[in-house]
Amino acid sequence: MARYTDSLCRLCRREGDKLFLKGDRCFADKCAFERRKYVPGQHGTRRTKISDYGLQLREKQKVKRIYGVLERQFRNYFHEAQRKRGVTGELLLQFLELRLDNIVYRLGFASNRRQARQIVNHRHILVNGRVTDIASFRVKVGDVIEVKESRRGIPLIEESLSKVEHRGLPEWLELDAENFRGKLISIPSREAIGLDVKENLIVELYSK
Ligand code: SF4
Repeated sequence: MARYTDSLCRLCRREGDKLFLKGDRCFADKCAFERRKYVPGQHGTRRTKISDYGLQLREKQKVKRIYGVLERQFRNYFHEAQRKRGVTGELLLQFLELRLDNIVYRLGFASNRRQARQIVNHRHILVNGRVTDIASFRVKVGDVIEVKESRRGIPLIEESLSKVEHRGLPEWLELDAENFRGKLISIPSREAIGLDVKENLIVELYSK
């Protein structure tokens, strides 16, 4: 599968917003976006007028990058959201939030989504007692997600979990930190997802 290997901070600077791709560093003074709030590259400090299409495109890129999803998969989520009854933009974000790697991140087992994906790929995570190593696996209400008992001593997981209170646990998840276990208790509403993105622009872009 194609993989982005360049600097993650460049992505934040490109999108003109903090995408929180690096965990703790994103909350520290070292954050590259805080230090250089302009687009990377030779002409980054130039002011250019952005078209409607440009705005839609940037919003789509921003959401894709936050969740670490590639174009084809992102488009598939969009089409699925479009087919379902409800608000397409909200459904799209819900599908992304319900990915296993995102839930692992939200529960605090990893400090960012990229790390969460790695933990899932390395078979450290159980869903309802079964090893699940597919990052895009869609978690359902009532599913129990936990770190395999033999992997609970991994420093990266322990350290990340110890900071979950600081980061805040979403209201749609339940966490038993002592047992490295969490549960999806409801589908997150748009408000509960809380991302600063204009998903309607993505709907407009793909509906052309
Ligand atoms: Fe983005 Fe700052 Fe985190 Fe880098 S440190 S990924 S610029 S939020």
